[in-house]
Amino acid sequence: MREKIAAGNWKMNKTLDEANTLASELKGMIADEVKGDSIVILCTPFPYLLTIKNLIGSGTRIKIGAQNCSEHEAGAYTGEVSAPMLKSLGIPYVILGHSERRQYFGEDGKLLAKKVDVALKHELTPIFCCGEPLEVREANGHETLVKKQVEESLFHLDATALQKVVIAYEPVWAIGTGKTATAQQAQDMHAVIRKHLASMYGDVANNISILYGGSVNAANAKELFACADVDGGLVGGASLKSREFTEIAKSF
Ligand code: PEP
Repeated sequence: MREKIAAGNWKMNKTLDEANTLASELKGMIADEVKGDSIVILCTPFPYLLTIKNLIGSGTRIKIGAQNCSEHEAGAYTGEVSAPMLKSLGIPYVILGHSERRQYFGEDGKLLAKKVDVALKHELTPIFCCGEPLEVREANGHETLVKKQVEESLFHLDATALQKVVIAYEPVWAIGTGKTATAQQAQDMHAVIRKHLASMYGDVANNISILYGGSVNAANAKELFACADVDGGLVGGASLKSREFTEIAKSF
């Protein structure tokens, strides 16, 4: 379903006390200040998922997400966290294929297709990330690469399954660098992704939320979110500050 989404990726940040403080502040600010029908997703480190979920409670636009899950459902995979575990905690979202997972943990399109499948099997909504590194953008290969990333990990799904996926376009050169894609660059790539989805799934492409990620902040969110094919943002650094992230969530 196509929704307006402000998702925060906390990455490997915050102690438990700090995480509780951030979530409590966000709970109040977002309830008081965010209008309309958008949703907010807090993707916290694994150890805090349940605590933050309980702190946020129900009857709010704030949902909780994990930042990764295993491609396996259970077994001897020390240190891993499975989709059934997340489901059992009542966690509805999971980021998959973040560029940091691709870069530092060698996750590729084939593996991510398995993670997407296992997440969907256990009724988690994958926030599937794609995006090109700087050298690919400079060589004008960004459209080809991103279409390939989407194809490799999502095109085996049927239309019903695809509609349960959120896509995040995150140019790697814009992540954590303070260098944001212009609204035009974001819109152009989101339109390319949506057109590519339409080539396979027809009108279903219009039901998919495509988020932009890469140095989104309170100053640039409005312009980015106003683009026709940008349905919100996946936000790293700026999601760690309650005032800044609330301003982003108010930018629809
Ligand atoms: C991210 O980690 O997904 C991200 C977009 O980070 P930042 O907003 O810090 O660039």
